[in-house]
Amino acid sequence: MRPAAVAVVGGGVMGASAAYHLAARGHSGVVILDRADGPGAGSTARATGGYRAQYATDVNVRLSLLTREKLRRFAEDTGTDPGYQPAGYLWLAATPAELAALGAAREVQHAAGLREAVEVSRREIARLNPAISLDGVIGGAFFPSDGFIQPLKILEGYLAAGARHGVRVEWGVEVTGFGRDAGGRIVEVQTSRGPMSTDAVVDAAGPWAAQVAARAGLAVPVTPLRRQIAITAPCEVLPADMPMTIWAGDGFHLRVRDGRVLLLWPSQGVPDRPFDASVDPAWVDAVTAMAHARVPVLRQVPIDRASCRAGLYEMSPDKHAILGAAPGCPNFYCINGSSGHGVMHAPALGHLLAEIICDGRASTLDVSRLDPGRFEAGGGALNAVSELL
Ligand SMILES: Cc1cc2nc3c(=O)[nH]c(=O)nc-3n(C[C@H](O)[C@H](O)[C@H](O)COP(=O)(O)OP(=O)(O)OC[C@H]3O[C@@H](n4cnc5c(N)ncnc54)[C@H](O)[C@@H]3O)c2cc1C
Repeated sequence: MRPAAVAVVGGGVMGASAAYHLAARGHSGVVILDRADGPGAGSTARATGGYRAQYATDVNVRLSLLTREKLRRFAEDTGTDPGYQPAGYLWLAATPAELAALGAAREVQHAAGLREAVEVSRREIARLNPAISLDGVIGGAFFPSDGFIQPLKILEGYLAAGARHGVRVEWGVEVTGFGRDAGGRIVEVQTSRGPMSTDAVVDAAGPWAAQVAARAGLAVPVTPLRRQIAITAPCEVLPADMPMTIWAGDGFHLRVRDGRVLLLWPSQGVPDRPFDASVDPAWVDAVTAMAHARVPVLRQVPIDRASCRAGLYEMSPDKHAILGAAPGCPNFYCINGSSGHGVMHAPALGHLLAEIICDGRASTLDVSRLDPGRFEAGGGALNAVSELL
């Protein structure tokens, strides 16, 4: 049996970050197992590339601030430029209730140290993003060091730097089961390439995290949720440094990436097919109509239907990450459930999971609110003041 001190299931941005941080701390024998033929087969390659610290819960704000610190020295740590571009996130409110939700979130942000997060008037909104129609907009929120990152560069950076620290990656290997000892600890990982003995397992399988956990007899409440992106033909009607602009009421948002405009708007997944990540043409029509009404300059730019894509969010019941040992198994660690914020939080979560595994607890941040046991009866699941934030 080939051995692994830590078997990381999933070589997306989460698994790569966890593996890198463990190895950088001197942990030897870290092996990533991924059933795909190479990097970027999961959600990481589908992400929009947004980074923000404007959240409504203390723990999410602090995860983003830790990530910001790590993005600023990412090139030094890993040798790869993560493409961090602080273009800002501009939230727009159409009702007093939406404005109040943004204000309540801002109080949480200020308390966590995000002092530059501000309320913005219609006039300031027009200055920050002159292309949008202010019809119905009554105000908003802005934070300048939110912005953009390049998901595949972060993945690449952690994989390359991890390899230099001794992380081994086995692509094309599916994890099919686990063997436990009499005390309930995982001692063996069963794979499509045969069994592997191990001291610990990290479940970094993104939208498939619950399925991987189930193979160890564990319940990790992560469910897939389809997210679609409509993409325009190449154009120059909006500037590359336009802030991510989000209508707080319905979550419609847009950004410019690689000379095209990306349009997003949350929708339901495909009924009875939770892992279906196909693009619904009717959704593309609807989001295009929204874009034309809200960003008039886009009326002259066609949608490139062949480029539109979808992927899967990895939802947890309270839309917060699940981090730490799973209840019922002390050496099965979760780093999943980020609910659509996984690329931006991977640098922080990988760092924190390495602390949990190496030291028995996270010391850089208090992440007790992310404990996998919080969903059990009477657990303290997190509530945000707004659905989107
Ligand atoms: C349309 C869209 C837009 C998004 N935008 C953003 C954004 O702007 N900012 C942001 O921070 N996040 C965004 N996200 C979310 C982000 O993509 C995810 O949170 C993140 O990529 C999760 O990373 P991961 O490594 O956990 O999962 P993945 O990248 O999905 O990796 C999981 C890996 O596990 C492997 N695997 C699964 N089961 C097994 C098994 N049994 N054996 C072996 N391997 C297995 C898969 O092959 C896969 O490679 C977006 C997601 C989507 C879909």
